[in-house]
Amino acid sequence: MTDRKMELAANLARVEERIAAACAAAGRRRDEVTLIVVTKTYPASDVRLLAELGVRQVAENRDQDAAPKAVECADLPLTWHFVGQLQTNKVRSVAGYAGLVQSVDRARLVTALSKEAVRAEREMGCLIQVALDAEAGERGDRGGVAPDGVAALAEAIDNAQGLRLDGVMTVAPLAGPYEGRQRAAFERLREISTDLRAAYPAATMVSAGMSADLEDAVAAGATHVRVGTAVLGVRPRLG
Ligand SMILES: *Cc1c(COP(=O)(O)O)cnc(C)c1O
Repeated sequence: MTDRKMELAANLARVEERIAAACAAAGRRRDEVTLIVVTKTYPASDVRLLAELGVRQVAENRDQDAAPKAVECADLPLTWHFVGQLQTNKVRSVAGYAGLVQSVDRARLVTALSKEAVRAEREMGCLIQVALDAEAGERGDRGGVAPDGVAALAEAIDNAQGLRLDGVMTVAPLAGPYEGRQRAAFERLREISTDLRAAYPAATMVSAGMSADLEDAVAAGATHVRVGTAVLGVRPRLG
């Protein structure tokens, strides 16, 4: 094994231990939580090593970085999640590789995703990104719809051709009432998910938690954690 592969294997093992311990502490089965490795800013060669180490779910937040990586890794058995703020002019490209878009936060984006999913003859999973710090009717700074906008967006996705409503996603707010209260933020997301599932029982995904706060997310009921730094290392630049 190369040094890099050994490093990634060791990091994955540590993250796996953390997830397993968090599941045990919460009385949850380990298979209730899926690890998604966020490979943003890291090269396709790392994605390939991760796939060799058994990773099947990867995430990216910028189309200009993700698109060429997905092409280089097209032979690998990976599902690509798009987790960044998405402009409608990038949607055609994203529809070429993403199995899921976790950052759906406005009706116009739903329209664009639907059109491109149909054109590409693919079904794309959609998570509604919830901005827990946004006021009624607003979008958050880092993307996401305010909690009171979730129901309307869910209906739009459910009615859109080529799209599948899979659940909700959040990034713990850096400011506002949830600042420093990741666990409370993720519990609020879980409540929003419960309401959503009452109307759309198949929308079971709750994507929450990153390297620093995955334990809080697992405790609060997340089904998917998105981990970058703890697997790949501290990113060389902001991504
Ligand atoms: C970068 C990123 C992550 C991973 O963050 P780490 O702190 O590196 O684990 C998770 N979710 C989103 C939306 C991201 O952009």
